[in-house]
Amino acid sequence: MAEPEVTVVGLGIMGSCTLWQLAARGVRAVGYDRFVPPHDQGASHGHSRMLRRLQFEGDQYVALADRAYELWRQLERETGRPLFTRTGLLIIGPGDSQLIRGARESAERCGQRHEVLDTAELRERYPQHRVAEGEIGLLDPEAGFVSPEEAITAALDRACALGAEVRIGKALEKLEGRTVAAPGTWLGALVPELAQHISIERHFFAWLPVRDPAAYAPERFPMWIRESSAATGRPIEESHQHSVRIRAFGFPTTDGSRVKVGFPVTGVRVDTPEVDRRPRPQELAMLAQENIDAILSGVLAEPSDFSVCLYDNSPDGDFIIGSPPGRPELTVLGGFSGHGFKHAPAVGEIAAALATGTQPPLDVSPWSPLRL
Ligand SMILES: Cc1cc2nc3c(=O)[nH]c(=O)nc-3n(C[C@H](O)[C@H](O)[C@H](O)COP(=O)(O)OP(=O)(O)OC[C@H]3O[C@@H](n4cnc5c(N)ncnc54)[C@H](O)[C@@H]3O)c2cc1C
Repeated sequence: MAEPEVTVVGLGIMGSCTLWQLAARGVRAVGYDRFVPPHDQGASHGHSRMLRRLQFEGDQYVALADRAYELWRQLERETGRPLFTRTGLLIIGPGDSQLIRGARESAERCGQRHEVLDTAELRERYPQHRVAEGEIGLLDPEAGFVSPEEAITAALDRACALGAEVRIGKALEKLEGRTVAAPGTWLGALVPELAQHISIERHFFAWLPVRDPAAYAPERFPMWIRESSAATGRPIEESHQHSVRIRAFGFPTTDGSRVKVGFPVTGVRVDTPEVDRRPRPQELAMLAQENIDAILSGVLAEPSDFSVCLYDNSPDGDFIIGSPPGRPELTVLGGFSGHGFKHAPAVGEIAAALATGTQPPLDVSPWSPLRL
């Protein structure tokens, strides 16, 4: 390839989608990754990521998710690969919890489909969940999951088919020319002036066997997230800097025998992306049978697989998309704060527009680095 017009640094889901979107515009683009994507050293791994229409993080994410849904479908069509499995998403918590209230009010303001289940309905329709008195459910019927590994492969394959180039196993340290930096938790190392605004947080998910796999099949058991003290007994403020956080989440079985669960409430701050990826005692303690039994029935606390994943948190939990002060040639994609994946194709489209000096399709001012 002749000299690239745009270089993309980092080929997790954000960089891969950006490379695809640049190539789709006919831009000569080269993408670099320090590892061989998809890999399990960043934030885009673990076989499933939730896509949802309902947003408790703010209405600015509704249009972004809507556009991303369109582009996920486009990527499926263009590659001929099914990526999205629709399951619905059940948000469970006290009626006045931040998750339920935030998502419900946003859905009402933005005219999104949703269903509220009172305690009795929730228990009757989804007996797999243990529901305390006063807890209700909010169902996002259009939610579902995508495999991050398959999505990265699809986006990179499509980008290459459209003329992009991928160079792997090489960490870029110097940024020159028009560049999109999508290095995940390495953002502080690559763009030092943003280091003070990014904190890295360690999370995990585990795969647990179920007694009755049919009850946990995608057709009967939606993905779920909970903001219930039953999951941990700890108030949410103790465990996270952000005001709206998920205590526990999970997926239906995709292999006919196990479900994937995570407990974001155990998240701890770490200094570097290069972490020891073996389970910590606190993480294993969270997987004790009594904690699982507090939220789910028929799930055995015998993890057969375990994976660590890192959040790149911004100070306010909002994304960082745009050029840092004095660096017009650089477009940064970062600060995804544990909720970026679903939006990746739309973020890639925005990045491709910004990097080529054209008007992005959505208002990006809420994510400007200038607010930091
Ligand atoms: C446990 C967990 C659960 C989550 N669940 C969801 C969910 O259900 N739904 C959702 O929407 N979001 C979810 N998220 C968040 C989402 O996964 C992330 O926001 C998203 O994957 C971030 O992608 P990224 O491309 O920015 O980062 P990464 O995937 O980390 O990619 C960054 C890439 O940059 C490369 N790199 C770094 N530095 C350099 C360099 N100098 N040169 C070359 N390459 C470099 C790295 O090797 C890496 O491949 C979750 C996150 C975690 C940790």
